[in-house]
Amino acid sequence: MSHAHILGFPRIGARRELKTAVEAHWKGQLDEAGLRAVGRELRGRHWALQQAAGLDCVTVGDFAFYDHLHNATALFSAGPARFGLGGHMDLADYFAMARGTPEQPALAMKKWFDTNYHYLVPEVDAGTRFRLNRDWLLPELQGAQAAGYRAKVVLPGPLTWLWLASAPAGFDKLSLLPALLPVYAELAAELRALGVAWLQLDEPILSLDLPEEWLAAFPRAHAAIAAVAPPVLLATYFGSVAVHAALLKALPVAALHLDLVRAPRQLEAFLPDWPQDKALSLGVIDGRNLWRTDLARVLALLHPARALLGERLWIAPSCSLLHVPTDLSLEEKLDPALKSWMAFAVQKLDELSVLKRALEQGEPAVWRELQAAAQAIQSRRKAPSTHVAAVRARVAALKPEDAERAAPFAQRIAAQQAVLNLPKLPTTTIGSFPQTAEIRAARAAFKAGRLGEDQYIAAMQAEIRHAVEKQERLGLDVLVHGEAERNDMVEYFGEQLDGYAFTQFGWVQSYGSRCVKPPVIYGDVSRPAPMTVEWSRYAQTLTDKPMKGMLSGPLTMLFWSFVRDDLPKQEVALQLALALRDEVVDLETAGIKLIQIDEPTIREGLPLKKAEWPAYLDWAVRAFRITAAGVRNQTQIHTHMCYSEFNDILPSIAALDADVITIETSRARMKLLEGFAEFRYPNDIGPGLYDIHSPRVPAQAEMQELLQRALKVVPAERLWVNPDCGLKTRGWPETEAALKIMVATAREARAAL
Ligand code: GLN
Ligand code: ZN
Repeated sequence: MSHAHILGFPRIGARRELKTAVEAHWKGQLDEAGLRAVGRELRGRHWALQQAAGLDCVTVGDFAFYDHLHNATALFSAGPARFGLGGHMDLADYFAMARGTPEQPALAMKKWFDTNYHYLVPEVDAGTRFRLNRDWLLPELQGAQAAGYRAKVVLPGPLTWLWLASAPAGFDKLSLLPALLPVYAELAAELRALGVAWLQLDEPILSLDLPEEWLAAFPRAHAAIAAVAPPVLLATYFGSVAVHAALLKALPVAALHLDLVRAPRQLEAFLPDWPQDKALSLGVIDGRNLWRTDLARVLALLHPARALLGERLWIAPSCSLLHVPTDLSLEEKLDPALKSWMAFAVQKLDELSVLKRALEQGEPAVWRELQAAAQAIQSRRKAPSTHVAAVRARVAALKPEDAERAAPFAQRIAAQQAVLNLPKLPTTTIGSFPQTAEIRAARAAFKAGRLGEDQYIAAMQAEIRHAVEKQERLGLDVLVHGEAERNDMVEYFGEQLDGYAFTQFGWVQSYGSRCVKPPVIYGDVSRPAPMTVEWSRYAQTLTDKPMKGMLSGPLTMLFWSFVRDDLPKQEVALQLALALRDEVVDLETAGIKLIQIDEPTIREGLPLKKAEWPAYLDWAVRAFRITAAGVRNQTQIHTHMCYSEFNDILPSIAALDADVITIETSRARMKLLEGFAEFRYPNDIGPGLYDIHSPRVPAQAEMQELLQRALKVVPAERLWVNPDCGLKTRGWPETEAALKIMVATAREARAAL
C-alpha cells in the first residue's frame, strides 16, 4: 500500500456551480436549503472523483461557501464581537461577516500566502472566546461517512489560524492558544469517536519566518490535540520547512506532509532519519500550476523514498488543489498538443492514481499511462513554441545598459518639462474610464463575430472621443484614452502576445464567489505586432493636451498568469519585458510623450521568506527597468501601483526609476506617503486623492486636506494630482463629479503655492 491523498479539492465546481448558487442565494433567488443542496452535490461529486482515482481516503472540510479559514472561524464560534452575535454563527451570520452589513464593514480580506486566493481575516482580542459549533463541518463529515467514504478531515491548524488573525496593537495572539486548544481537542475527540481515519491539520505558516515563541508553541499545541485525535497529519506547504526538521520529527503527530514542488531539496532534511512511527507525505504533483506532471521524474524520486519508508510513504499534490482549475476535459478550444501538456484538478487525481499503482504494482502495470505522460512531456519539450531561438537570443544578449535610461532623473525631468510644459501639481487619471454596458456589448459582439472589425474600431474610437472630450472639459492636464478596448489588464495583452493561451473553464477561486481565469504562458513570449499604439495615436490626434500611453508591466503579466514551469520565472519576466519594451518604444515613435507601465503586483511576487526577497526584487526591478529604458530622456515613464504597504520595499520601488509613480493612498489617509517622504523617494509622486472603490464623491475640502497633507511631505515640484486607481468600475456621473472637484482642488492649491 502507498497511501495516496489530496490536501483539498477546488470547491467552486467545474462550471462554477458554487458561484452561481451563492450569488443566487445572496440575491434572494435561492433559499438556504437550495444552496446547501448545491454544496452537498459538489462535495459528493468531488469525493466520488477521489474514490474513483483510488485514493485511500476522501478529504472532508476543504469545502466552504465562502472561505475555508472563515469556516474554521464559524466552527469555533470566533466571529468578532462587533457583529453582536455572541460569537455564534449560522450561515446568514457567516455571509454577513464575509460581505459586511449596513452597520458593520466586512472582515478584511488578505492574500493566502503567495497565492491569488484571499481569505477572510479572523479578528481576535482579549475578549475572544471559543466554542465548538456542531452545525459546521460535522454535517459534512456525516455526509461523507453516510456515503461510505473513508474520511480524512482537514482543518487549519490552531497556530496558523491564530497567526493569520488580526488583533489590536500590542495584543499577544498566542495568549489565546490555551483557550483555543480545548476546542480543537473537543472536536478532535469527537472525530475519533466517529471513526475518522485521519485528521489533517494545515500549518503552512511553518514555511514563513516565524518568531521563536510561535515555533515553541508547536509541540505543546499539537501534543494537546494529538492525544485525543484520530492519527494526525500535519501539513506544510508553499515552502521549505527544513529548518524545522528537528522540531517536526519530534512532534507527536502520525504523519507530516512536505511540499516537494516548491522545495524539493527539503526531503534530504527529513528522509534519512525519519522516525519509524510516522508516515511522510510527499507533495510531488504541483497544486499551484496546471502542467502535467513528469511522472517518470517523480517516480525516480519516489523509489528511494519508498525503499526507506515502505508503507509509511504517502503521495499527494504539493498543496490543496484549490489553486488550480477543476477539469481539463471541458476544454474544447485548446490546441490539442497544448492541452496534452496540462492537468487540472481532476487530471491530477489521475496522475496520483498512476503513481500509486506504479509504486504498488510496478511500472509495467501502468505502462500505458506512463508512456502517455512521457509523450506529452516530450512533445512539450520539443515544441517550437517553447524554444523560440530569436527570443532566447535576445534575452541572452541583454546588457546592463539595457536597464538604464540615458540620463539620471534630474536631467530627464528637466527635458520632459521642456516638452510637456505642465503646471505644478499636474492633474491626470490612472487610465481607465467607466466601462459602460455599451462598451462591453460592443466588445462581446466583436469577439463573437457579430460586429465587424471596422465597426468595432469605430465604436471604440467613439468611446475614446467621448472620454477625451470629457477630460478636456474637466480641464485635466494629462489625458488618457480610457481603455475602452480592454477587458482585463492581463488578458488584453496576453491575447496579442505569442506564447500565451486562454482556457474556457480554467477558473480558480479568488475570494468568495469571485473567480479568475488566468491566461497561460506556455511558450516563449514575443510581440508579433504593436498592441496599443493605434488607440493611443488616435487619441492623441483628438487633443493638444499630452496623451498618456497605457501598458501592463511585465510583473503583472507574470503574476496574474499561469506560468510555464520549464523556465525560471525571471527568464519569462525578461521575455515579457522585451516584448513590452518594444511597445513602449513604438508608442514613443507614434508621438506619445508619456507612457504608464502599470505594476500593481510587485508585492505579489515577494517570497515567503525574507532572506529570498533581495534576489526576487533584483530581477523584478530589472524586468521593469528593461521595459522602460528604451525611450529618450524627454519621454516620461509613469508607473502605477494599487494600495499595498510599500514601506519595506521602498528602495526597490525607487530603483524602478519611473519618472512618476501614482499610488493608492486615500483610504489610508496618505499614510503610505509618509513612508515615501521619510525614505526621500526621489522622483515624482501622485498619491491618490480619492477612493475609486465607491461611488461616493468627496467634498473639495476633503480632497484639499489630503493634498495639503501630501504637500507637507512632497515638494510641490514633485507632486501630481490623481485618483487612487482606474475608473472602469465607476459610472460617468460620479466620475465627472469627482474629477471636477479634483481639478478644482489642484487649481486652488496651485494658486496658494
Ligand atoms: N491602468 C489601469 C486602469 O486604470 C490600472 C488598473 C490597476 O492598477 N489595477 O484600469
Ligand atoms: Zn490601481
